Amino acid sequence: MSGARGLRSLVLTGAALALTACALPAAWQPREVFKSDDFIVTFAREGDTVQSLADRFLGDPGKAWMIEDYNGLSRVAPGQEVVIPKKPWSPSGVYANGYQLVPVLVYHNIGPQAKGRLVMAARTFKQQMRYLKAHGYRVISLDDLVDYTELNRQLPRRSVVLTFDDGYKSFLQYAYPILKELGFTATLFVYTDYVGNGRNALNWDDLKSLAKQGFPIGAHSKTHNDLRRHSGESDEEFARRMQVELAEPLALFERRLGQAPQVIAYPYGAHDDALVKKVREHGYIAAFSVRREGNASFVPPLRIHRSQIYSEMTIEEFAKSLDVFQKEAFQ
Ligand SMILES: [Zn+2]
Repeated sequence: MSGARGLRSLVLTGAALALTACALPAAWQPREVFKSDDFIVTFAREGDTVQSLADRFLGDPGKAWMIEDYNGLSRVAPGQEVVIPKKPWSPSGVYANGYQLVPVLVYHNIGPQAKGRLVMAARTFKQQMRYLKAHGYRVISLDDLVDYTELNRQLPRRSVVLTFDDGYKSFLQYAYPILKELGFTATLFVYTDYVGNGRNALNWDDLKSLAKQGFPIGAHSKTHNDLRRHSGESDEEFARRMQVELAEPLALFERRLGQAPQVIAYPYGAHDDALVKKVREHGYIAAFSVRREGNASFVPPLRIHRSQIYSEMTIEEFAKSLDVFQKEAFQ
């Protein structure tokens, strides 16, 4: 690939300059040694971190992942040669040896103890979030994932997306604090019949406050029934049912939150061609199913996969849902 060829010649240039630098007096401080439209080659100074380099050269410490991913490192030593990519080098995530996958995880309810497959113990959830942090995963927003499927955004190599379905109140008590602590975001997919329906459900005020704090709310139908077209359902009947399930929630979101979502999670992940067409007609730009695999940049945006995380999963089983690369020989 041209990016890889570019890197090789850059590294050679950098090495040649490094040799020159060795011949100079010890007091000489190497700084930027090479600059092009796409890359800077530099040497880390005393006290530099990947973040400080990102801040100095890219104007944003949040872009540290670009330096980490490009150089395959997570820290730098003084005097170490570092290549700073000035712009995305692979927005598609496709490389000579395979392509990037982005796992999207689905959670439901969380409680003090596990109950059934879909109520996870708070302790287990915390352990999983700490696992992501400790293993260098970056929790990205659903918006960034959608941009990626439109080839508009390169993502960190170890990106993962978190989602919570249905709208359980327990999110506030058990998920929110640890997500905040780790600086993670998550998207909540709520079905509108459940919002404010009893003390176990999030209400509109909760959702409004969460959305304001960077936890976006997505659609999940009105009733949580299977939205696929029934056998024998006429065009008119199907269209009327989709008006209720796909359009009415948007109007309600608009009224109660001041903003309608553009993303939807299919109840039970169930979808077919007729439903995907309706979802598109009603203006949704991304839709989510349930299937245990990560997403390449070329996944159809109305059929993005999500991996359900069950309460009884061990941390090893959890880790298996986090594949971020599909090896493939492109010949
Ligand atoms: Zn659901």
